[in-house]
Amino acid sequence: MAKKGIDLLRDRRKNKSTAFTREERNALGLRGLLPYAVSSQKMQVDRIVTNIRRQDDDIDRYLALFQLMHRNDRLYYQVIMENIEEMLPIIYTPTVGEACKRFSHLFSLPKGFYITPEDKGQIYEMLKNWNHRDIKVIVATDGERILGLGDLGANGMGIPIGKLALYTAFGGIDPGKCLPVMIDVGTNNKELREDMLYLGYPHPRITGEAYDELIDEFVMAVKKLYPGVLLQFEDFLTPNAYKLLNRYKNKILCFNDDIQGTASVALAGVLASCKITGKEFKDLKVMFLGAGSAATGIADLLKSALMKHGLSEKEALKRLNFCDIDGLLVKGRKGLMEHNLPYAHDMNSIPFKEAISTLEPDVLIGATGSGGTFDQEVIEAMSKVNERPVIFALSNPTSKAECTAEQAYSWSDGKAIFVSGSPFNPVEYKGKTLVPGQGNNAYIFPGLGMGLLVSKAKGVNDQLLLAAAETLADQVTEEDLAQGKLYPSLKNIRQVSHAIACRVANLVYELGLTRKRRPTNLEDRIRKNMYDPKY
Ligand code: NAD
Repeated sequence: MAKKGIDLLRDRRKNKSTAFTREERNALGLRGLLPYAVSSQKMQVDRIVTNIRRQDDDIDRYLALFQLMHRNDRLYYQVIMENIEEMLPIIYTPTVGEACKRFSHLFSLPKGFYITPEDKGQIYEMLKNWNHRDIKVIVATDGERILGLGDLGANGMGIPIGKLALYTAFGGIDPGKCLPVMIDVGTNNKELREDMLYLGYPHPRITGEAYDELIDEFVMAVKKLYPGVLLQFEDFLTPNAYKLLNRYKNKILCFNDDIQGTASVALAGVLASCKITGKEFKDLKVMFLGAGSAATGIADLLKSALMKHGLSEKEALKRLNFCDIDGLLVKGRKGLMEHNLPYAHDMNSIPFKEAISTLEPDVLIGATGSGGTFDQEVIEAMSKVNERPVIFALSNPTSKAECTAEQAYSWSDGKAIFVSGSPFNPVEYKGKTLVPGQGNNAYIFPGLGMGLLVSKAKGVNDQLLLAAAETLADQVTEEDLAQGKLYPSLKNIRQVSHAIACRVANLVYELGLTRKRRPTNLEDRIRKNMYDPKY
């Protein structure tokens, strides 16, 4: 039976609050439950935005938006979509990092699904407690590497919630079909465990077989209960991130955004950078600082892209070099992880700064989680070997960025083409406005996800990630490039996501990665599938 009265006002999916018309108020038992005036959705959005702006800081803004999400889905998404550039840093990085750190102290309303080692053997039954059955996208984390902030245990739940909000706002996935999951296996963060208010499972992390079995039970339960669901692994520690991706990529439609989403968005930026520097993509040399999941994921996809542009695998690998705190990664270095091996070349190890002047990379990509690692000497060394050095400082949140936009521009005398993980404001330099690009994975995963779901893809491969990156790079305008910006305006994100979804879905059909046939009206079908929060 359709909900009425107070129950209707408490249903976040159906609530319109003061926008219920007089007729609706009469018919739905709402008379007396709302003040007299009827607002339009536009008036409601304006009211909310004014109130958000009045808050003292971004955490208060984050909380105000979180509460709104609980009251009224459609109004929440309308607020976000009409004010994307202003709201994104509040609902996602950098504010979400601060919100995660303080999650247990700020907690007011439960959202998402929690699994702990005590739930072993019961996960399938427990998932039935979730009130929606038609789940299409799950974002799951174990909270061990939240952004660049480390092990935040169950406090990391802010990340799956935030990512799924972006799936809806940017990619048009219905919020009722999204499920944020925290696989709370404990935390090795002693400070959290000793915090009286900590809400997670207050034990050291389970590891080894116990960990593997719990994750396996979760994945199998999800597969059984929600066939065809897209499972996104998020913010797992690098060895687990690779292990899970490799274990499940052929068992369930899944991908790891830190590895694959980051790779695709970074590749798009590198492709777009060639339009400014005039260099051929196939000639590029790329240097990474940091050899974890983000950087290696980017390198793996760059390798595929270079091969697509005609290089052999051996030639492509040679173009990609990694440094970490111990300098250049080379063959024979002790302690290398499996994913590092293809990039450990037969050379002598030299310190990072020396590696820049010796190897003369065209592009420098930082994914260290260590703030300030691109100092003046680094940027000057890149400027010495490049007319327009391309600098990616991807670490999040803002405090962890390898350098700021201002530093990149001033140390390169305004020549750097700069991309960051967290947003930076435009910089005035010698009378010119220079606009940093934000290599935000949210340019890729919502459209990619929609494309995979619509085409009922069986899996994700490099060809799809490449196609998503190329489509994103194609959306960058001459005007963006003139300002040094490697990504399109976020104002166009729905259009960007739609373009990516269409390209990905088309390729899924073409590659036979689905049992379904391509519908003739694919573009329209995807557009119609996209959630519209207007009443
Ligand atoms: P990770 O822990 O797997 O890898 C970090 C790597 O950096 C390791 O190889 C480590 O040895 C190296 N490192 C650490 N400190 C260093 C230092 N001072 N000098 C040189 N090397 C150093 O982490 P990850 O998953 O690869 O993520 C790294 C960062 O990238 C995080 O801050 C994350 O937020 C960010 N990231 C950004 C995006 C994006 O902006 N689109 C996407 C994914 C990850």
